[in-house]
Amino acid sequence: MNLKRISSLLIACLVTFGASALTIHAQNGYARDTAQPVDDEYTRKIAEYTTEKFFNSPLTDYLPASPNVPTPKAVLGDVAGAPGKLPYAEDVYKYMRMLEKATPRVKVFSIGTTEEGREMIAVAVASESLLQKLEENRARLNKLGDPRLINFDDAEADRLVDQSFPIYYITGTIHSPETGAPTALMELAYRLAVDDSPYIKSIRDGMVTLITPVVEVDGRDRMVDVYNWHLAHPGQNWPGLIYWGHYVAHDNNRDAMGLSLKLTRNVMNTYLAWKPQVLHDLHESVAYLYDNTIGDQPYNAWIDPILTDEWQMIGWKNVSEMTKFGMPGVFTHGTFDTWSPGYLMFIAATHNSISRLYETFGNGGADTLTRTLSPDEYQRTWYKQNPPLPRAKWSQRNNNNYEETALLISLDYFNKNSKLFLKNFYLKSKRSIEKPKNEGPAAYVFPADDPRLGNQARVLRILQGQGCEIHRATAPFTVMLKKKGAPRPAGPRPAGSPAPSPARTPETEARTFPAGSYIVRMDQPYSRIADALLDYQYWSPRDPQQSIYDDTGWTFGELGNVQVERVTDVKVLTAAMDAVTGEVHSSGGVSGTGSIFIVNSNADTNLVTLRYQLKQAAFEAAEEAFEAGGRKFNRGSFIIRNASSDQVNRVSAELGIPALAVAQAPSVKTHPIKAARVAIMHTWLSTQDEGWWRLAFDQMQIPYDYLSTQEVAKEADLNKKYDVIVFGPGNGNVNAVVQGRPMYGNPIPWKKTELTPNLGGFASTDDMRPGLGWQGLTNLQNFVKNGGVFIGADDSASFAVASGFTPGVSIQTSTRLRAIGDVLKTRMVDGASPVAYGYGDTLSVYCFNGPIFNITSVVGGGGGGRRAGGAAQRTTGRGTADDPDVVQGRPPAEMPEQPPATEVWEAASVTEEQRRNLVGLIPPNQRPRVILRWGNANELLVSGLLDGGDEIAQHAAAIDSPLERGHVVLFSMNPFWRGQTSGSYALVFNTILNFDNLNAGRKLDEK
Ligand SMILES: [Zn+2]
Repeated sequence: MNLKRISSLLIACLVTFGASALTIHAQNGYARDTAQPVDDEYTRKIAEYTTEKFFNSPLTDYLPASPNVPTPKAVLGDVAGAPGKLPYAEDVYKYMRMLEKATPRVKVFSIGTTEEGREMIAVAVASESLLQKLEENRARLNKLGDPRLINFDDAEADRLVDQSFPIYYITGTIHSPETGAPTALMELAYRLAVDDSPYIKSIRDGMVTLITPVVEVDGRDRMVDVYNWHLAHPGQNWPGLIYWGHYVAHDNNRDAMGLSLKLTRNVMNTYLAWKPQVLHDLHESVAYLYDNTIGDQPYNAWIDPILTDEWQMIGWKNVSEMTKFGMPGVFTHGTFDTWSPGYLMFIAATHNSISRLYETFGNGGADTLTRTLSPDEYQRTWYKQNPPLPRAKWSQRNNNNYEETALLISLDYFNKNSKLFLKNFYLKSKRSIEKPKNEGPAAYVFPADDPRLGNQARVLRILQGQGCEIHRATAPFTVMLKKKGAPRPAGPRPAGSPAPSPARTPETEARTFPAGSYIVRMDQPYSRIADALLDYQYWSPRDPQQSIYDDTGWTFGELGNVQVERVTDVKVLTAAMDAVTGEVHSSGGVSGTGSIFIVNSNADTNLVTLRYQLKQAAFEAAEEAFEAGGRKFNRGSFIIRNASSDQVNRVSAELGIPALAVAQAPSVKTHPIKAARVAIMHTWLSTQDEGWWRLAFDQMQIPYDYLSTQEVAKEADLNKKYDVIVFGPGNGNVNAVVQGRPMYGNPIPWKKTELTPNLGGFASTDDMRPGLGWQGLTNLQNFVKNGGVFIGADDSASFAVASGFTPGVSIQTSTRLRAIGDVLKTRMVDGASPVAYGYGDTLSVYCFNGPIFNITSVVGGGGGGRRAGGAAQRTTGRGTADDPDVVQGRPPAEMPEQPPATEVWEAASVTEEQRRNLVGLIPPNQRPRVILRWGNANELLVSGLLDGGDEIAQHAAAIDSPLERGHVVLFSMNPFWRGQTSGSYALVFNTILNFDNLNAGRKLDEK
């Protein structure tokens, strides 16, 4: 096609369009300053790269000229959104800093670095006079955001609102294949700084626009590499973005609860420091602009209704104005439910501001492409009256037009109503502090006698990262609590709806908490996020929302395996307490005297770190509980020798682990705890979910090699290098892992080259296509047979089962189970297994439709299925149902003893008849050992959505399955999920610590 002809046609269109655009300007108040010259060349290019005139608006179809401020062209060499141009983060920053140099209306702030050391920035744009008043304004916003500072004086708040200007924080490109935001934000910063249109001047003079143009900086640079590779290899298949950030991909936008990633921490800290009234995150997926802020039900149950009203106001304003511009495909209602508070934008929602999010339409790069939509995308619906076109040529410039137009409309609307939104910010903050006397609760208490103080501190540090205040009781205190075991309200109710009003007040009981207990008071500005994280979630299986967007449950106390008490009794607020200054840490270090050190096993995540930090010391684990120095120690407790008291004291103090020095070791059966050599295996198919495992291993400083399936395929003797191989979930089925990607077309490299300097590094290959292969599978299996330990969860557990690594374990096909990212209860079956060291009778874990394990003592499941163990139903005959029938005319026969009834998580009994020649009978020491099982159906759900739970109830949840000399340890939960599941980390760490003694405490079947 003749591009020149098209562009001249477009320019002709533009001229005609210009006249009608002026009318629209007048109508909507977006008139531009006709006295200000336009950058003609830039404006011409905008038109050239916009594929249809209705894919642009009068707000962005021109660029004002400036004699001294450079346009994005200065860095890009072309206009924002130009085809083939994808700037690295560094180039985006370079431009922002050029703006800062050229105009006093722009200031650039460094807000931290990424996991790989790349910088993150925030760019403030406003009039010079506003930027000079940032600090005094910050002081005012701090008061509005914490009404305690003005004694809840509403009149004073009104005065502060009058004097203050608001902050609107925009964040771009958290999702790396969504590539358009950085150039749109470069141009937006220019417009806000330069354009003299009355409405833009008013924005500039009335508020600060704060911009983080690239949130996932590591991923952005990799994406640009991949795109450049694509440009350099026309006609070839290009690498998919297998790694975005250092750890996770899409899930970087699910970290606003756990705050595990640096990008989340950096944005959170920027949020806490600036107190913006809006956090607006930019994404790309659907055509052409989904302002998904309004989304769909169920709404998160812990946010202020004032906020949900604000969502509606700004969202529909966007749709309304862009509809008037004739831009198709702009909508705000949609299938995105607003339940989970894990999204980056939700930092604002849970901290008294406004969360917003756009999905614009992107091409995953800067190519201009013809895009064909599916009917459900282009059909007209009640909320999409001007839907996107079934087929259209789409460019990155179109995307930038939509993003900028929508943002400018929002900024304008927000600015015009800034006093309302500032007042709302105050009201929401005030209502958060008034929580105890309104909806409650009054506080959450973390008792000082929790057996897992290290894990407790870990959960409290997350709350501190959220900006929550933590207090600590200086004396014991007593409050009234809801009586334990009080029945839950019966019957399903819609998610997010209020609980039915109780017929009578629930029974209460007094509880005294010891001094040193932590108290998270709900009369603080950020009570909502603490409440949202610590409370329980209920999503009704009958909820009208059936396309569930994300996790449905996350209760942090449960997933952290720590005790958290929800207290509605406002008396708790009068307990003697001090505010905690500095990070919460459990206290550790050595007490007592002697050269032997005892450390209690309590499933603390840091115990594994202690082992690796004291690498030269000799560690043993007690196989039974014991007492020493008047204290009780659990099974699995460490007995440490060959380490200096200073060294043990320093490391254990740092890790918050108490160690007791004794002169004489307790007399208890032990086995050695060596520092296992660990590998984490990944595929070239998907790495995100295993990324959460790597993150936890790095946090605990567990050394490991990071191996791809291709490397495992080349290593015939894995035992020579490793004791434990961990295969995280998220890789698909055996076939996918073994086969890899299809071998059609060209090799697909993922490695550092001059063209792709940001690829490779911690994982690289010349060709991403080959998988584990049959040789790799054999290598892995031999590794286990020769004494190695393989760990898998969810689909990587299924991988081991389907590959024949676990002769006594099978997986039942689920037909009804819906456990959609929720918290479920498990029960301890075999607490003597080293995997279980330090755990109690129950443990809440994260489950997303985990595999339903069945156990058998016979290879292939022969010798009686699940139901064969049960007693046979009697036939029709004499007597009652429990009586034996009687054959007439002969003496009663002696009844053989029935095989013992077995539980759902156990293998069915094998009868003597079956045993006679049962080639598949697994020797007792090779049978699977069930460590945890899922709770009973009526207790299984802790938080979230569970439907058909009886299908998985009571089935094995954690299994140690021997294979010759080694072990395969399987989980039907995911022990490492989004930094939220620290309570289950120790299941895996225990496995690693005890890798060569997993049979400890095992009771074998007799035959
Ligand atoms: Zn996205």
